[in-house]
Amino acid sequence: MSAPHPWLERIWSRLWETEQRGQLSHAIMLRGRAGFGKRDFAHSFISSLLCAAPNHDMACGQCRSCGLLAAGSHPDFLKIAPEEVGKSILIDHIRELGRYFALRPHYGSRKIALIEPADAMNRAAANALLKILEEPPPAGMLVLVADRPERLPATVRSRCQQYALDMARSSELIPENLDIPSRKLRAETLARAGGSPLRLKDFSEPGLAKAIDALPEAMAAVLFGSLSPLNAAAQFAKIDLVLMIDQCLRLLHEVLLLKNQASVPLAEAGRVPHASLQKMVLQLDSQKLAAFVQKLFELKQLRLSSGSLRELDLAESLWFDWQQVA
Ligand SMILES: [Zn+2]
Repeated sequence: MSAPHPWLERIWSRLWETEQRGQLSHAIMLRGRAGFGKRDFAHSFISSLLCAAPNHDMACGQCRSCGLLAAGSHPDFLKIAPEEVGKSILIDHIRELGRYFALRPHYGSRKIALIEPADAMNRAAANALLKILEEPPPAGMLVLVADRPERLPATVRSRCQQYALDMARSSELIPENLDIPSRKLRAETLARAGGSPLRLKDFSEPGLAKAIDALPEAMAAVLFGSLSPLNAAAQFAKIDLVLMIDQCLRLLHEVLLLKNQASVPLAEAGRVPHASLQKMVLQLDSQKLAAFVQKLFELKQLRLSSGSLRELDLAESLWFDWQQVA
């Protein structure tokens, strides 16, 4: 196995074959939902590209290049990331990238830069990057990793070779060694984890699973006025807020699909849409719902970027906002 996770094997082979044919673009984008191992994939792939003696498509782990990369001091590798989680990638970071690409490679034939998460670039940074993409340096290669590529300008996206990393078959996603007895239960656990195989293990914990399963009902109850936002916040106080927001987003995604009478992919994975979701569909105003989804993303960002905020305060504001969506 060369890819860092089994469900990424096929896409790994595809990329490596593209590289072997000499058709790998100077800019590639690894995109897809969180929890599928995009970051691990990017690091492994870059290691293989820089390795002096790869074993087929796998970095040897022994050469100077592999050693320098592991030590974080490879002169032909640059990682561009926000200064703190949740902050933006700024134009100064991209200027640094320009200076880096102006130099020749030290060892191999490439200088590689990883931008992660690329969707954290603000507008000025994305515009500066576009200039580099328009006139790529001969030895330069860019690897962009993005959960939400739609946040990037279309001009940037269109100049990257794109690879979706969250398209695996469900049979590839559920490791046999995870102790979940039936296929149905595994599919349900996967649905709870938002389809993300990397989170599967957390969600197989029965207490958490039960709490998460109570979420659609609580959301419906707040919407219909039979549960107060404060009581809802208290009921889920033990669940990590970011996890909670992800769960809300997942459920609202299903609600939107139901509203548009599209089929619900998670339901196909073995999960019947919750009756509470169906009730909510009739009650929701599309515009308000869109605004609420935006608020969820902002709240998540806020939580990730500041540790000093009281989690319960944020959770309460989430539930109060939700009450207004009806
Ligand atoms: Zn090596």
